[in-house]
Formats: sequence, structure tokens, C-alpha cells
Amino acid sequence: MRKMSILSLVFLLLSLTAFKSSDSTSSLDTTTLVKIDASTREERTEITSLGVSIEEVHDHYIVGICRPAQLTALKAKGFLFESFSLPAFLLDFPPGDSAFHNLQELESEMKDLAQTYSHIATLSSIGKSVEGRDLWMMRVSGPQILEGEKSGIIFLGTHHAREHLSTEVPFSLIKHLLKNYGKDEKITKLINEREIWIIPLVNPDGTDYDITNPPYKWWRKNRQGKGAESIYGVDLNRNYGYKWGGQGASSDPSSETYRGASAFSESETQAVKAFIDSHPNITTLLSYHTFSELILYPWGYTYDSIEDQRAFKVHETMAQAMGRMTGYRPQQSSDLYLTSGDTTDWSFGEHKIISFTFELYPANMWDGGFYPPASVIEDVVRNNIPPALYLIEYANNPYRVITTIRPRDFLTVSDVWPPKP
Ligand SMILES: [Zn+2]
Repeated sequence: MRKMSILSLVFLLLSLTAFKSSDSTSSLDTTTLVKIDASTREERTEITSLGVSIEEVHDHYIVGICRPAQLTALKAKGFLFESFSLPAFLLDFPPGDSAFHNLQELESEMKDLAQTYSHIATLSSIGKSVEGRDLWMMRVSGPQILEGEKSGIIFLGTHHAREHLSTEVPFSLIKHLLKNYGKDEKITKLINEREIWIIPLVNPDGTDYDITNPPYKWWRKNRQGKGAESIYGVDLNRNYGYKWGGQGASSDPSSETYRGASAFSESETQAVKAFIDSHPNITTLLSYHTFSELILYPWGYTYDSIEDQRAFKVHETMAQAMGRMTGYRPQQSSDLYLTSGDTTDWSFGEHKIISFTFELYPANMWDGGFYPPASVIEDVVRNNIPPALYLIEYANNPYRVITTIRPRDFLTVSDVWPPKP
């Protein structure tokens, strides 16, 4: 597909053409970059509850994306901010190919892989998007393993349409696992001893919309409401059913963080829910997003830590370990700001699945934000293979990460899941 490349220089130019919010009436009905003064998590929670998607958190400001209605709301609440127009030239694709996969390429490569590696790979659709596209999932597991027989782990990519690297990383993980089966001793063992599910693209409709007929749309949500007067979309990562409807999401359909009409109102989240509900052997979950280079764990809906101290310690220990592998910063999700209805609060809250959200490369908007050049894919993937293997390794019982059992006991520990308190 066409190349996704936005140079830092462009962002520099963008910043030079920034204008104050009071002059921003010309940006009506466009998506807007916004830099907002905010120093506390409470302020950031209020901002995201107003419907701004926060993409970068700094000590005294955030960078986010919103629509004109949110600028009005921010002003009414007394927030100081600057908004940035997105000039048309920024949104044009440069000509040429890239390593990013569009829907057709992803689907066809997944099918090829399932055929080539049919002894360990099974492709299936876990459901349909609101526009009727398949939600493809690859199961990777040893040749003789029946479903539910071994401990399971699930990787999810791209709930948010414009976060294209978050498709590439889980898709590359599939390829990495399959291609190394029978060659790499550790990976062979992992595949023989685990049931690994990977859904690289939870939001195909939004992604397709984001990249079809350039310029880029900077689209975050799904495509709920198509055919209505205005297509609004639902933020799929605010639509899960644990503590749905709280702070850190918006009830305004036009906003970036619109939570939907009800918990699990969307066919995409329903499909993920149904799959996880029916696979009680899943112990571990990783949901990929971009960007900011963070490793987040529950809770998102409250500033409190996970009440179960052992479960909290498992999340904290694993996040720190994966932080050392990647250079990403580990922290509790709500340390940034509250979010309600996200994937990991639900998977942990409902099923006690050890759950993480990765905010992948880059660290900030000025290094490419959602649209880094395809040249970075390989490095980002390489950086993210070790934490994925680490989680797969521990998926037979993540709680052993806080016991005295050392990693050298790899695959020799037989534990009961779920762990007894
Ligand atoms: Zn996201």
C-alpha cells in the first residue's frame, strides 16, 4: 500500500504555523491537534472525559486530538490550549510502496501463512466488524494440541484505526513464531506448550477508512453510524464492559473518546468478548496501541491499584521487565489519566487475565506520531519480540514471575490456573 511517511520536519513546520485557539474558527469540521496545559492526572482525566484523545503526556501539558466541539468545551472549562491545523500537504501520501499492510494484503498474507504452516497455524474469523468485514485471528499452537488443552495468551492489534504500527507488530509476531518453529529451540517449545492467539486488526473498518482516498483521516474510532447523517464511530477501547460509563470516556458521539451507546454495543468488541469468554485457558493478554512508548496495566478506571496484591505485583513486575527489554516506560494506566471501558480493565476485571497495553513507537508526535515512515517497522518489531516471547513463556502461570521459581525452570512448572489466593 501507499507509503506512510510524515517527517519530523513537517511537524516542525506544523508547530510554526500553530495558531491560538481564539483564531481557530477556520478549523471547524476538521480534526485538530491540540496542546493543552495540564499538570495533574485529574486535569488529564477531565480533558479525556471531554472527548479529547490524549496521545502524549508531559509534565505540564498534553498533546491530543479532538474535534471543534471539544475545543469549545475546553475553553468553557478554562483550559489553556493551542490548536494546530493539519495542512493538506501533511496528509498526502508520498508515492511508492511501503511495508505497511492494508486490509487486502493483511488478509491474503494471513491466508498464505495459514496454508504454509497448516500444522501449527489456523486462521479463523472471530466475527464481523460493523461494516461486515472479517476479524481475522491466527491460532499458533503445536501440531497435536487441541483447543483449550494448553495455557493460552492473546495478542490484539489496532483498536484505534490510525495506529497502524499496532497492526504490524502483532502480524510480524505471527510470522516470527511460524518461521522459527523447528529452527529456534525456545520458540518451538513455546508453540508446543502454549495456545497463542493473535488478532492483528480489531478495527478493519476504521483502518480502511483512515487510509482510503488520501489524505489521511486521522481516524480513531470504528465506523458505527455509517449511513446516518453523520458517521460518528465508537472508540472501541472505551466500549468494553467493565466499569463502562465512568470517567475517561465521553458520551458525545462526535468526540474522539465516545464510549458507544452501551457496553459492548459494537460488533468488534462483542467478537473479542465472545472469544475470550469462551476460552478460559487464556491467562495473559497484550493489546497494542500507538504511540508514546509506554507499558500500561490496570486499572484505568480508578486511581487505586489492583486490590489483589499478588495480581498487582505480577503486573508491576512484568511491566518493569518488559520495560527493560523495550525501553518503554511501565506504569499503571490511570497514572496518566482515567479511562473507562478499555480492553485490559475488562479482561483483568472480568476474567483475571494478566493484561497489558503497549503504546508503541514513537515517543511523541514530533517523531511521526501515528504515521511514522515504514522504515521504522523492522526496528519496532525487533524491539517488541522479546516481551511477546516473555509473556508467552510465563503464560502457563504468570504468577510464577513473583515466586522464587527462576526463569531457568522454563516450561517445567505445572501450575493450576487460575491461581488460588
Ligand atoms: Zn490507541
